[in-house]
Amino acid sequence: MPKRRKTRCGFLVVISGPSGVGKSTVVRRLLEVFPELKMSISATTRPPRPMEKNKLDYHFLTEKDFFEQVKNNSFLEWAQVHKYYYGTPIKYIEEEIEKNNIVVVEVDVQGASKIKEKININQLKCSAVFIFLIPPSVDILAFRLKRRKTEKVEAVNYRLRAAIAELQVMEKYDYIVVNDKVDSAAQKIRAIINVEKEKALLN
Ligand code: 5GP
Repeated sequence: MPKRRKTRCGFLVVISGPSGVGKSTVVRRLLEVFPELKMSISATTRPPRPMEKNKLDYHFLTEKDFFEQVKNNSFLEWAQVHKYYYGTPIKYIEEEIEKNNIVVVEVDVQGASKIKEKININQLKCSAVFIFLIPPSVDILAFRLKRRKTEKVEAVNYRLRAAIAELQVMEKYDYIVVNDKVDSAAQKIRAIINVEKEKALLN
């Protein structure tokens, strides 16, 4: 007998990729075309960039407050990325999964691998789909990092070297999406989520 279909089922959509690939822009567009998705807002010790707003883009914390939260097990995962610390608050994710919502998490490759580990050992009781966003070419990635003008030249070069190293892990992901155009990358991710939604209902 076929399994009875559930009506909804929550899971995580973990989006990773090298710095400068345009993750935040693609995620912002994804939330516009798929408004029922929930977005996890990370905590960071990085100072806000111009236009970034506390609690909307990140929870901007001092190192002292960040490590207080680490001590209290408030993060699903946390990592040092470049010079700063970043962490995914666990409470929001657990609450949204409990409500059967789909939660988007944007993390670096260390974060994605830590989330995978927690799911594998059943510390987080939900499934996740891992999506790796790549640039159409390394030249385009270098161009995008420089165009952003939020980092100094040395920082851009550092991020570029890190990005090339990060590209080596992409085969560990469930899906690889090329960010050629923001709209098309967001639509590809939307299609992936729709497929995963169907699969989650059958499990
Ligand atoms: P940015 O400083 O450019 O906003 O982010 C730098 C890197 O940190 C990006 O690769 C971004 O995906 C990653 N990042 C953002 N939030 C988190 C998080 O909560 N955990 C981890 N591990 N990485 C994060």
